[in-house]
Amino acid sequence: MSKVIVSSLYNSPVFKQACRQFDQAADAISLPETLRDRTKYPRRCFAVSLPIQRDDGSVTVFEGYRVQHNISTGPSKGGIRFHQKVTIGEVAALAMWMSWKCSLVGLPYGGAKGGVIVNPNQLSESELERLTRRYMQELIPFIGPDTDVPAPDMGTNEKLMGWMMDTYSNHVGHISPSIVTGKPIALGGSQGRREATGAGVAYLTKRYLEDFKIPLSETTVVIQGFGNVGSEAALALVDYGAKVVAISDYTTGIYNPQGIDIRKALQYIASQRVLLDFDGGEPITNEQLLELECTVLIPAALQRVITPENAGKLRCRILSEAANGPTTYQADRVLEKRGDIEVIPDVICNAGGVIVSYFEWLQNRQNYYWDKEEVMTKLFRILDRAKESVEAQMRRYGFSRRLAAQTLGIQRVADAKQGRGLFP
Ligand code: NAD
Repeated sequence: MSKVIVSSLYNSPVFKQACRQFDQAADAISLPETLRDRTKYPRRCFAVSLPIQRDDGSVTVFEGYRVQHNISTGPSKGGIRFHQKVTIGEVAALAMWMSWKCSLVGLPYGGAKGGVIVNPNQLSESELERLTRRYMQELIPFIGPDTDVPAPDMGTNEKLMGWMMDTYSNHVGHISPSIVTGKPIALGGSQGRREATGAGVAYLTKRYLEDFKIPLSETTVVIQGFGNVGSEAALALVDYGAKVVAISDYTTGIYNPQGIDIRKALQYIASQRVLLDFDGGEPITNEQLLELECTVLIPAALQRVITPENAGKLRCRILSEAANGPTTYQADRVLEKRGDIEVIPDVICNAGGVIVSYFEWLQNRQNYYWDKEEVMTKLFRILDRAKESVEAQMRRYGFSRRLAAQTLGIQRVADAKQGRGLFP
């Protein structure tokens, strides 16, 4: 049963999508009414205005947000997105999904997310540094290693996390690496963090291919979004023996049925920043890319790219959701009706990032650092456990994989809220 959205603040298509998913899950597990809204809506949010001096001496004021969805199960945790289309509703939806994700995989965190309305490609490096530091400066009263711990997301990376850590550390007067995760290794970053999200996507995809008895040598992969997550997933899947036949970024898609040389594509991006004019295949549009025939389709860019319009036209066997919220609620209904595509839902599929972020936070707090093998072994063990619990939930209640994953995550948050009671 769909409910009226009572929050006008977050009102946006992607927030409604997250709310509808929540309502469906809450109905499926008969979550008591008294727990519903407090489990569903964000705990608090901050909107900050960020004036920075441009290289030409002028001043531009950017707008940024941080939404802390749930702090009942631990400090809140979630990435920071720099994108020109960020809205507070989008940030709230992403924060909600972080809550379910952390609970599903058993991390002692709540969910949060941050965003700044900016196209980072249009700023110089020094402007980007000033904006990043200003954003952190504004967040300082609201975040901390025991309160809320940011990380990278679209448009941000380890260099920005380094500037954020430095800004916070200067404020508190000593180095405080556990304030953000996804930092450079030299600043307390974890081995394997850069690879973690994509490696997790590839690992789970491999495990499901095994379940469905599809050999990796016969697996073709199409990836939308060739940034941190998409490129790391591509590298890992190629190393497992699959063939990546299409990749894309915001400028173009590239299709090569013989298989794209992923390392060559990465070298091209390192010098050109974008895939445009890369000669490793034929140019195609992002829309065409989603409808290519393949074994595995990996959306690894923005949310809401699989819609009721194209869901019927997908020609993949497995949909590995590396991006957050890539499939709209209505598109999900189309996929369920089709029944021929196995969905690995975002809350488990891309959880590798926050799992290794958790490892990074632990290492920072202990001042004791692990090698990459230890990180990856522990990461895959947690993903295996989460996969088993999702499959068991599917079998037990006859849920779709998404509903199984979301009900597990939501139930654990609701249980914590129930246990803590209502503060008078
Ligand atoms: P990124 O900025 O490194 O890369 C994003 C890629 O998507 C770039 O190649 C960009 O050009 C491309 N892109 C942007 N708009 C596009 C469009 N309209 N069409 C096609 N491509 C487009 O970001 P990322 O960190 O790789 O994040 C990608 C997705 O993965 C996001 O949905 C993010 O929320 C999710 N995610 C990231 C992490 C993480 O650890 N970075 C963890 C979990 C989930």
